Amino acid sequence: MTSKVKSLNLIKTRFAPSPTGMLHIGGARTALFSKLYARHCGGEFLVRIEDTDKERNSNEAVQAITEGMDWLGLSPDKQYIYQSDQIEAHKQAVQNLLDNGYAYKVKRTEEANGEFSEITVANEETDCAVRLNIQKISDDFEMYNTVKWKDAVQGKVEYKLDNIGGDLIIARSDGTPTYNLAVTVDDANMEITHVIRGDDHINNTPKQILIYTALGLEIPTFAHIPLIHGADGKKLSKRHGAISAFEFKQQGYLPEAVCNYLLRLGWSNGDDEVISIEEAIKLFDICNINKGASTFNTKKLDWLNAQYIKKAKPEELMLLLKPFLEKTGIPITEQGLKWIEKSLPELSQRAKRLTDLADSAVFYLKTVPLQMDEKATNAITGEGAKYLKQATELFEKANSWNQDTLHDIIHTYCEENDYKFGAVAMPLRAALTGTTNSPSVFHIMEVMGRDESLSRLKSSN
Ligand code: GLU
Repeated sequence: MTSKVKSLNLIKTRFAPSPTGMLHIGGARTALFSKLYARHCGGEFLVRIEDTDKERNSNEAVQAITEGMDWLGLSPDKQYIYQSDQIEAHKQAVQNLLDNGYAYKVKRTEEANGEFSEITVANEETDCAVRLNIQKISDDFEMYNTVKWKDAVQGKVEYKLDNIGGDLIIARSDGTPTYNLAVTVDDANMEITHVIRGDDHINNTPKQILIYTALGLEIPTFAHIPLIHGADGKKLSKRHGAISAFEFKQQGYLPEAVCNYLLRLGWSNGDDEVISIEEAIKLFDICNINKGASTFNTKKLDWLNAQYIKKAKPEELMLLLKPFLEKTGIPITEQGLKWIEKSLPELSQRAKRLTDLADSAVFYLKTVPLQMDEKATNAITGEGAKYLKQATELFEKANSWNQDTLHDIIHTYCEENDYKFGAVAMPLRAALTGTTNSPSVFHIMEVMGRDESLSRLKSSN
C-alpha cells in the first residue's frame, strides 16, 4: 500500500456507511458534503460500505442505503467498494505493524479465581488479539504523547495519548481487523484526501492518526461535522419523525429539496435558502461548514419543498406525482392525468409535499357521479342547489369556454341577483370536485373542458 503512487493532487472524498439500517439523514448530509466538496475541487467521490460486522449488517440495509443515495443523486463516481473485500489488506497492515514493533500480540487467560487477565505473547503465537503499541509510535515519531491535527471544521484538536483508552485492539483473536484499523487502511488504499464525517467519530481520529503514522501513510485532512439535533436539542432520532431518505421520499419530498435542505443544515452562503446543486458545487467549501450543531426544522424543509414543487417542470413533476396519485386508491385514467398536468401550475402553488399535491389533484381522476365529502354534500343543498342549477344553465349557453368568460358569467349573475360570489362558487366547487377546497372553479372548468364540466355540474343538480 505504501508503494502506491497517489494520483497527483486529485481530491478524493468518501462516504463510509455501515449497513445496519436505512440511509439516515445525517449520513445523507455527510455524503452530500463529501460529494459537493469533491465536485467543487474537480475530484472524486467514493462510497465504501463498511460491512464487516456480520451480526449487525444486512443486504436489505445495503440496498436501502444505495437506493437512498441514488434517489438523492448522491451515487459515487466509481463502483461501490465493500470493506469485507479488503480483509487481506487489513491483515497485511496488521502484520506490517507487528513486524515493525508497532503492534503486539496478546492472549487472554483465565485465572484460578475465574477472572480474566491478558498477557503479551510472542509474535509467532496464533489465535491472539493484536494491540497497537501506542508508546512506541509516540516515541519513534516524536509525538510527545499527544495527537494533534487541524480539523477543517473544528480547528486545532489535541488528544493526550493517556486519554484514548490504552493500546487499542487492531485485530481480534480470530484474525478479523477492528474498526479503526480497517477504516485507516481502506481510506489510505482508496487514496482519500479528505475524510468528512459526523463528529461522533472524532474520538476515533487520534487512533486512526496513530495507525497512519505507524504505517508510514499520509494523513488525510479530517472534517468532523456537528450532528443534527431535533427541536428539543437531542440527537435526531426516530422520535423526531422522518429520519431516513426513504421516509422523506414516502412523505412526498423532492430529492432536490431534501439535498438543498441538508446543504443548509450546517452550511450557509449568506442568507440564500434556495441553492441548486450546480450553485452549491461552485460555492461549497468545507471551511464554511458551521461548527455548532444544527437543528432539524420540518417547517423549513416543507417551505423549501414547496419552492421545488413550484419550480419543477410539469412533465417531471407528473412522474414524481403518479405514485402518490396511485396511493389514493382512485383509478388512474389517461384523461385525468392530462388534466392534472395541465392544472399543475395552479395546483403546485399550494402544495408543500407531493402528498398534498396528490390530494388536491385527485378530483380530476374521479368519475361522475362524484363521491362527495360531507361539506361538499352540504354545499349543494338548499340555496346551494339553486345557485348550482341556475349557474349550470348559464354555462350551457356560454359561447366560449375559458376561465375568463366563465368567471364573467358568474360575476354578472351575482351582480344581477345580488348574490355573494363565494356563496355561488362553493356549490360549483363541490359539484366539480366533490370537495370544498380546490383551485379556482373557472380554472378547473377550463382544464376539464365543457363536456366534463357540465356533466359533473348536472349530475349534482
Ligand atoms: N462506518 C461509519 C459509520 O457508519 C463511518 C466511518 C467513517 O466515516 O470513518 O458511522
